[in-house]
Amino acid sequence: MAEFDETRAVWNAMIDRKPAMIVRCRNADDVVAAVNHARNNDLPISIRAGGHNVAGHAVCDEGLMIDLRLMRNVTVDADNRTASVEGGALWRDVDEASQAHGLATPGGLISDTGVAGLTLSGGIGWLRAKHGLSIDNLVAADVVTADGKLVHTNAKENPELLWALKGGGGNFGVVVRFDFALHPIGPEVMFAAPIYAVEDGPGPIRAWRDFLAKHGDLVGSLCEFSTAGGEDFPEESWGKRVYTLACVYNGDAAEGEALLQPLSELGNMVTDFSSRMNYCDVQQLFDTLMPAGEYRCYWKARYLSELSDEMIDLAMKNASAAPSDNSISSLWNFGGATAAVAAEATAFGDRSMGWMYSLDGVWSDPGDDAANIGWSRQGWESAEPYGHHGRAYLNFPGHGEDGDALTRATFGANYQRLVKIKIKYDPENRFRFNQNIQPEV
Ligand SMILES: Cc1cc2nc3c(=O)[nH]c(=O)nc-3n(C[C@H](O)[C@H](O)[C@H](O)COP(=O)(O)OP(=O)(O)OC[C@H]3O[C@@H](n4cnc5c(N)ncnc54)[C@H](O)[C@@H]3O)c2cc1C
Repeated sequence: MAEFDETRAVWNAMIDRKPAMIVRCRNADDVVAAVNHARNNDLPISIRAGGHNVAGHAVCDEGLMIDLRLMRNVTVDADNRTASVEGGALWRDVDEASQAHGLATPGGLISDTGVAGLTLSGGIGWLRAKHGLSIDNLVAADVVTADGKLVHTNAKENPELLWALKGGGGNFGVVVRFDFALHPIGPEVMFAAPIYAVEDGPGPIRAWRDFLAKHGDLVGSLCEFSTAGGEDFPEESWGKRVYTLACVYNGDAAEGEALLQPLSELGNMVTDFSSRMNYCDVQQLFDTLMPAGEYRCYWKARYLSELSDEMIDLAMKNASAAPSDNSISSLWNFGGATAAVAAEATAFGDRSMGWMYSLDGVWSDPGDDAANIGWSRQGWESAEPYGHHGRAYLNFPGHGEDGDALTRATFGANYQRLVKIKIKYDPENRFRFNQNIQPEV
C-alpha cells in the first residue's frame, strides 16, 4: 500500500487520485501490454513521466496509470548530434548525457521535470532564443497508440503524428522514445540574475524589456517576482518582494558576460547572482525552489501580445498581493528562433505572442487554498486586456477548469487538424488526461 501511495503521488501535493491499477513499465513491450489491458477492460489511461503537471494529469481516479519512471535511458549520437531519450526520462538525464559531448537541446528550467510532458506541450527553456522550443528540436518519436501498436514517426514516416506531438500533448498515445537534435552548448554559459526590490519601482524591468527588444535573438529570459529570504540574500532584504532579471546568453560565455553586464546597473540591486557557470548547473539552479510533493500549487499563465508599461505595473501589483511567500510570478520573453516558426508548422500554433505572464501559487496549509487559488486566478484574469487572443501555454494551467475553451483558443486554426489525427489514433479518447482534444468533428 505504501508503494502504491508513493507511486500515485505527483509533484503537486494537492493531487490525491487513486487509479484502479498502476503499471510500472520497463520497456515498450510493457507499454503495449498495459495499453492492450486498458482497452480490453475499457479503462482510461493516464501517463506519468516526470509527474510535474500541476493539474495532476499524470494520475487518474479509477483508470489505468502507466508509470514510465523506470524508462529513463538516454543515448547520444555525438557525430549526428542527436539524443534518443526514453519516455520517462527527466531533463537532468538528457542534459548530463548531452553535455558529456559538449551538446544540449532546449529543455525547461528545472532538471527534474519530465522530458515527455514538457516537450509534448511545447517546452520553454533558456535556449529558446537561439534554438527554439523543445518541440522545434524533436526529429522523431516512437509512440504506442490506443490500438496497442508501436508507431514510428519522423519527417517521412507518419509525419502527421510527429506534427501533432509538437504541441498536441499526450493525446495520441504513449511516447516511449523521443529523438532530439543537439547543439554545441557550453560547457560554460553566462547566467545573469540581478535582483531588484519591487518597492524601488519598475524602472529596471522597463529597461530589461527594451534591452531584450534588441537582444532577444540570443537571450532567453524571465523577470521572476518572488520574496527574498535565506542565506543567499542580505538579511535586511528578508521578507521583501523582489524581482530577478534572469537571463541565459545563448552563445559564447565571455561575450554574454559583456552583453548582459548593463542589466546589473539599472538601479540599487538587492543582490546579484550573475555568474558564468556550467550549463548543467544552470539547469539545476532552481531545483531546490520547487521540491516535489512538498507544496500545494495552483498555476495560471497567459500569452501577452506585448509587454506594456501598464502590464509591468500590474505584474508588480499582483506580485505584492501574493498571500504566500513561496508563490512566484514571471514575465517570459519570446522572439528569436521561437518566433521564427510558422503557426501551421507545429501543432503548438501561433508564435506571434511577444511575452508570457505566469502566476505560480505555491503554499503549504490546506486552509489557505482559497486565498492562494484566488490570487492566481485573479492575477490571471486581471491580465486579460493584455492577452494574446485568449491563448495560453498549455503546460501551465491550473486544474483544468478553463480546459476546453483555452485549448481551442490556443491551438486556433490547428485545432481541427488535431481532431482528425486524434480520431485516427485515439478514437475512443483512451488518452484523455491532458489538454484534451475531443475525437469529434
Ligand atoms: C517545478 C516545475 C517547473 C517547470 N518549469 C517549466 C519550464 O521551465 N518550462 C516549461 O515549458 N514547462 C515547465 N513546467 C511545466 C511542465 O512542462 C509541465 O508540468 C509538464 O506537463 C511536465 O511534464 P512531466 O513529464 O513532468 O509531467 P507528467 O505530469 O508526468 O505528465 C504531463 C502530461 O504529459 C502526459 N505524458 C507524460 N508522459 C508521456 C508520454 N511518455 N507520452 C505521452 N504523454 C505523456 C501525461 O499524460 C500528462 O498529460 C514546470 C513544471 C513544474 C512543476
